[in-house]
Amino acid sequence: GGDFNQKIDYVFKVVLIGDSAVGKSQLLARFSRNQFSLDSKATIGVEFQTKTLVVDNKTVKAQIWDTAGQERYRAVTSAYYRGAVGAMLVYDMTKRQSFDNMARWLEELRGNADKNIVVMLIGNKCDLGNLRAVPMEDAQGFAQRESLFFMETSALESTNVETAFLTILTEIYGIIS
Ligand code: GDP
Ligand code: MG
Repeated sequence: GGDFNQKIDYVFKVVLIGDSAVGKSQLLARFSRNQFSLDSKATIGVEFQTKTLVVDNKTVKAQIWDTAGQERYRAVTSAYYRGAVGAMLVYDMTKRQSFDNMARWLEELRGNADKNIVVMLIGNKCDLGNLRAVPMEDAQGFAQRESLFFMETSALESTNVETAFLTILTEIYGIIS
């Protein structure tokens, strides 16, 4: 890819967590390869994608980890969280349950990850606004109480995907540097 001969200043591991089918793999496909698939198969095996970008004149390699059909509570192992400096908690804004489960995902994250990890709440599928099941205020309230960044995205329409990743990487950079 574009990393050839590039001097990397930082590698930031960011993990994606949240219920199955909320769009984690498609957010990653959109961010790392600018791709999207409507019939994405459940991911097999833990995997990550990298993307190299410039933050504050430094070259940052983002290593984004995607869960692999391990989305049942407590099935994600501690190895997944090890070394992570950022986490994206993803729900589907058309599925209330996936938002209600964010508290459990956050609890699991806090039990496994470094205490300084930067966490962003993501309400995905905002292209399906007419099917909205999670009011923006509910998500903003939760994010505020838990000190999370918050953004609504659409992997399908590319809305806020780049912005969400850039925001979390910039915040991580601000803490690390
Ligand atoms: P994961 O299980 O969380 O990794 O979810 P996937 O990325 O596999 O996506 C689950 C389903 O939702 C797939 O059919 C995707 O095409 C679809 N999907 C993902 N993101 C979006 C989005 O932003 N908008 C819409 N309408 N569908 C999406
Ligand atoms: Mg997946």
